[in-house]
Amino acid sequence: MTSISQHAAPSDAFRDETPWDVGDDGDTLHEECGIFGVIGARSASSVVALGLHALQHRGQEAVGITSFDGGEFFSHRGIGHVAHVFKNQDIFADLPGMMASGHVRYSTTGGSGLRNIQPLFADLADGGFSIAHNGNISNAMTLKRDLVHKGSIFQSTSDTEVIIHLVATSRYPTLLDRFVDALRLIEGAYALICTTPAGMIACRDPLGIRPLVMGRIGSSVVFASETVALDVVGADFEREVEPGELLVVDHNGVISSHRPFGDPAPRPCIFEQVYFSRPDSILGGQSVYQSRRQIGVELAKEAPADADLVVPVPDSGVPAAIGYAAESGIPFELGIIRSHYVGRTFIQPGDSKRHAEVKRKHNANRALVAGKRIVLIDDSIVRGTTSLKIVQMMRDAGASEVHMRIASPPTDHSCFYGVDTPERSKLLAARMDLEAMADYIQADSLAFVSIDGLYRAVGQQDRNAKCPQFCDACFTGEYPTHLTDYDADAVAGETEA
Ligand code: SF4
Repeated sequence: MTSISQHAAPSDAFRDETPWDVGDDGDTLHEECGIFGVIGARSASSVVALGLHALQHRGQEAVGITSFDGGEFFSHRGIGHVAHVFKNQDIFADLPGMMASGHVRYSTTGGSGLRNIQPLFADLADGGFSIAHNGNISNAMTLKRDLVHKGSIFQSTSDTEVIIHLVATSRYPTLLDRFVDALRLIEGAYALICTTPAGMIACRDPLGIRPLVMGRIGSSVVFASETVALDVVGADFEREVEPGELLVVDHNGVISSHRPFGDPAPRPCIFEQVYFSRPDSILGGQSVYQSRRQIGVELAKEAPADADLVVPVPDSGVPAAIGYAAESGIPFELGIIRSHYVGRTFIQPGDSKRHAEVKRKHNANRALVAGKRIVLIDDSIVRGTTSLKIVQMMRDAGASEVHMRIASPPTDHSCFYGVDTPERSKLLAARMDLEAMADYIQADSLAFVSIDGLYRAVGQQDRNAKCPQFCDACFTGEYPTHLTDYDADAVAGETEA
């Protein structure tokens, strides 16, 4: 690699939340990464920056881009948002070439720190190799122990680096064979975009847990975690990278498809539909917005409420609230207003801090809710602290009743596939039954959409209990892969408060 440049950490003012992030103090789930790559485009690195900007909601801690100019690789990485790390146009002059890939990251396995910012890069026997990963390898620690024992020296604490070492130490003759050999050894969830001197490799794990789509801008080929990033860079959606598929694109735009894992039944993450993906993305052929709206319809059928207004917790509760209102006939109103100018530098001293934190982001529309019976719609409950504050906010504003409706089933298990969830003992639904949860958040009533209701909303007839169509482990505890690095206690969780 010719050049690696790194960017200093920004002030916290640049580290605002994702636009539909509703909570704080660890009470939201975070998608941990977004990836984007393009091959055959002029100023490929600036196309990647634009694509990553559209994926910013998938990771706000750090960002990196690697480019290749036909001879050498270049890289720029930094802590902060895309718009901050790549605010200076001169950076793109130092990222030349017609192939580039990038990554936005929330602190994931291995923690934060410049050395963990992706794409990771290594000089292998065949030349440079960069890798950008969305997901989590659930046997990375086990593999790493073995590799270190055999002499590998790791540069980062990221699970992703295991793949580089497996490729480097594989005995197969071609890079592609060595890459497939490495993938056969890893468990868990991965969508990957890799660059080599010969071109770009994009692939999804055999179950397709994490998303990856392909598009085109003219003759250049684009890969992205979500279709919204294709829209933003002006690419036409071509298709999803299929679960277990590995696509190789050379510098002439010739694409070859490989399926080294056979044809297992896919298990894409259903939470992408509920919360992680942007509502203007298309996932599995289904509009994410329509899925969320339909969850609200199912919720209204399953858990009606006598109320005057349907109020979303903005922004993530809005589509489900629209669906709930349409099905129930109860008017939809913006009873909570979200500030779009919240940074983390404004620190309140003392006990008022946490309360002020919620009120700075969300404030009750007092004139609307006073004296009204409210159906409050949110996407999920994690620890329950945010729900408690929002319900209190409605009561303080004069709401006569608050009925909480949640557009996902109870989240009572942790995710080990690249989504930051608290350990199981911190999840409200793992600690309490429905009645106790309602008491805890001080709602007059509480209901969650059923797992079958969720499946119906995303276009299935029902959940196939023998062979579920999605990964839904955070709702059911049925993990679709081995979890080698996590012992049974960690998966089962300690459930006392
Ligand atoms: S456990 Fe939940 S959040 Fe994690 S991949 Fe499965 S459905 Fe998605």
